Amino acid sequence: MAKKQFKAESKRLLDLMINSIYTHKEIFLRELISNASDALDKLYYQSLQSGDTGIKRSDFQINVAADKDARILTISDNGIGMSKEDLEANLGTIAKSGSLAFKEEHSDEGKDNKEKKAIDIIGQFGVGFYSAFMVADEVVVTSKAYGSEQSYRWQSKGADGYTVEEAEKTGHGTEIVLHIKEDTEGENYSKFLEEYTIRNLIKRYSDYIRYPIQMMVEKH
Ligand code: ADP
Ligand code: MG
Repeated sequence: MAKKQFKAESKRLLDLMINSIYTHKEIFLRELISNASDALDKLYYQSLQSGDTGIKRSDFQINVAADKDARILTISDNGIGMSKEDLEANLGTIAKSGSLAFKEEHSDEGKDNKEKKAIDIIGQFGVGFYSAFMVADEVVVTSKAYGSEQSYRWQSKGADGYTVEEAEKTGHGTEIVLHIKEDTEGENYSKFLEEYTIRNLIKRYSDYIRYPIQMMVEKH
């Protein structure tokens, strides 16, 4: 399968994010849960607009599951989901939420300074989906758009591009599988597979989320 390249600016930001000394790697969970919540909101509003009575808000939920042995953390939702085109458009472009545009606008300094500034900005703004690559060496997104029969899988190991292919998935919504990085001398990534850490992060950063967040931990 042909590997597609991220848009140039996305690539720069992704490189920066992955390789930066950025200390708040833990915020990836906040970002993914907030995207899941947005996807549930979108489905809800769409159902109100179209008068679709098949949607019950009380069914909406976000799941976080950790498998320590497999080093996999999965965040899933039964929200609006993404079509193939959505996956390409939304996950092929980084920082649509404006952090990079902000950076570009405010940079008449040299490159080094620019990068330092970007790191500051990452801390201030929502960094979005790509923050997953701060803790994962591979990210697999399987999604089924509401109302569609076909699911698609978006897959990437980071800055060198991504693939999109047809997949199987029951029910609408999105499942994001993070292959958590191996620990290094300076960095403990395994903690993101620990129930204790995950619960604390959810409490600290995602307390405002209005949908139930279920947690499952694989105990071996
Ligand atoms: P932002 O949330 O600021 O738009 P992100 O980088 O967090 O930026 O996400 C990019 C886009 O990818 C979102 O706007 C949304 O369209 C799509 N997306 C990400 N996660 C999901 C999800 N769980 N369900 C549906 N769409 C999603
Ligand atoms: Mg987001």
